Amino acid sequence: MIEHSSAAAGDSAAPEPARRDFVREIVRADLAAGRHNAIATRFPPEPNGYLHIGHAKAICLDFGIAAEFGGRCNLRFDDTNPAREDPEYVEAIKEDVRWLGFEWDQLRHASDYFEVFYRSAIRLIQTGHAFVCDLSAEQVREYRGTLTEPGRESPFRNRSVAENLDLFARMRAGEFADGTRTLRAKIDMASGNINLRDPALYRIKHVEHQNTGSDWPIYPMYDFAHSLSDAIEGITHSLCTLEFEDHRPLYDWCVDRVDLVNHPELWDFLPARGLPTAPSKPRQIEFSRLNINYTVMSKRKLIALVGEGLVDGWDDPRMPTLQGLRRRGVTPAALRLLAERVGISKQNSVIDYSVLEGCIREDLDANAQRRLAVLDPLKLVVVNLDADHVESIAFPNHPKNEAFGTRLVPFSRELWIEREDFMETPSKGFHRLVPGGEVRLRGVGIVRCVDVVKDGDTVTAVHCTLDAETRHGMPGADRKVKGTIHWVCAKHAIAAEVRLYDRLFTAADPDDDSDGKTYRDHLNPDSRRRVRGWVEPAAAQVETETRLQFERTGYFVADRREHSAAHPVFNRTVTLRDTWAKPK
Ligand code: ATP
Ligand code: MG
Repeated sequence: MIEHSSAAAGDSAAPEPARRDFVREIVRADLAAGRHNAIATRFPPEPNGYLHIGHAKAICLDFGIAAEFGGRCNLRFDDTNPAREDPEYVEAIKEDVRWLGFEWDQLRHASDYFEVFYRSAIRLIQTGHAFVCDLSAEQVREYRGTLTEPGRESPFRNRSVAENLDLFARMRAGEFADGTRTLRAKIDMASGNINLRDPALYRIKHVEHQNTGSDWPIYPMYDFAHSLSDAIEGITHSLCTLEFEDHRPLYDWCVDRVDLVNHPELWDFLPARGLPTAPSKPRQIEFSRLNINYTVMSKRKLIALVGEGLVDGWDDPRMPTLQGLRRRGVTPAALRLLAERVGISKQNSVIDYSVLEGCIREDLDANAQRRLAVLDPLKLVVVNLDADHVESIAFPNHPKNEAFGTRLVPFSRELWIEREDFMETPSKGFHRLVPGGEVRLRGVGIVRCVDVVKDGDTVTAVHCTLDAETRHGMPGADRKVKGTIHWVCAKHAIAAEVRLYDRLFTAADPDDDSDGKTYRDHLNPDSRRRVRGWVEPAAAQVETETRLQFERTGYFVADRREHSAAHPVFNRTVTLRDTWAKPK
């Protein structure tokens, strides 16, 4: 068996060691035992919202395993809940999966199989495994029982096959109003697993569907549609999160009772519709969800954040959506690295936000070019240079990787430096510029502060002399001073809007409402600051979505919607170091 080392497209990294989580062990064992010639997985999002970082874990697993074991992975839209679904989400999900670096084998929709589900339901009626029930939703709840008490059988449970077939056909024909009847599996009202107490398979819902229009007034329930969709597509390993563990007996019940493998009449029209089909008996395997602190991940809360205007939409760079992370400058490689680090298990845990940030830094440190930018400018005048002095200084684009080449940075008499790099009355241990003191200007040489210009209490400029003996190639070039600061040339720098993003929540568990607060009360008021800074020309000129390290400042991305060379807009992806490690 050959294992491909890397799942994602566009990876040029050295082969990684084979991963050894329990899902991969199962797949290895199944292949070794000859249970499958090739494996097939699927990623099955419901198109009722944007994908978030938790989905990235599932995507990396579903697509990653398929690629590693030479199998295939479908993207399937689980579109059985038409009232909550939208084509806008469908397009975004496709874009996000590709952005993460994966390509699906086939694009499918649960709605492609509505006719298969319908025929399968009829088969279950014919074999005595399903019945039409007239109980209302409330009555069904009453009959269901509790965790400690068995349920009671529906009075409609023993309808004849003929009556069930007639009623189900009339449900399908649209004769009955929403909620008046359901088709239910006939399993066991006394089962310890409540999911097996005659669960609904179909409900009546007169609502338009984005793919099937008004063709269907009835829609299949999740467990029925999901298990059969997996079987139809020949999925071998159906990977899902732990909350579906209790549904697995029902999943297996549907697959076994319908038995698509031995009943081609239920699906044999699909290939003619361009949907090649080779049914399997899929195996469901559950793994723990990704949870990250300082974040909310439920779709309901993400929808609320957007709907209540607490963020600027789904792609707000503070959102844990893939669209938001992308706009923030997070790379697909960083998310794949996170998925790998977090690993796959059945243990529920909360990952510290710093693990995500660490993955982002690791990728950007290796791959982001360096540039100079000043975000809180103070004028520095090199008084011993001529007023019309201009030169270009070659800077390496990356300190550890010569392949990134060099660029020319303009330098002249007037510069911008960071205000915090100068202190008129220095505090102890301050090693940057002070009156009468020296500092190295990155790439230039050593300057000494000879004068401080003030307007009232505010320092408006510092005047310095440049020691020509310390310039590149001169005998004093290696002379040591304690501090090195960065700068941009005032004459050539481009004004830029810079958005300093931080965590959206100040509480590690924004969902904790034990003190009567909700996640809305834990929003970080400093999660976005907008500043006007100055960037060197070679920073302004980058394409949108280019990620850069602004030296000494952090990692930034040229905003994919608003950046242009004339009006640069940069989003801070992450600071250079973890500023949250110490409690604030
Ligand atoms: P909802 O159930 O509210 O619609 P969901 O997050 O479960 O939201 P789905 O579209 O059903 O959304 O998810 C698609 C796939 O992604 C499922 O297989 C699900 O198990 C997986 N998934 C969702 N959230 C996470 C998470 N936090 N970590 C890992 N996998 C996840
Ligand atoms: Mg779900």
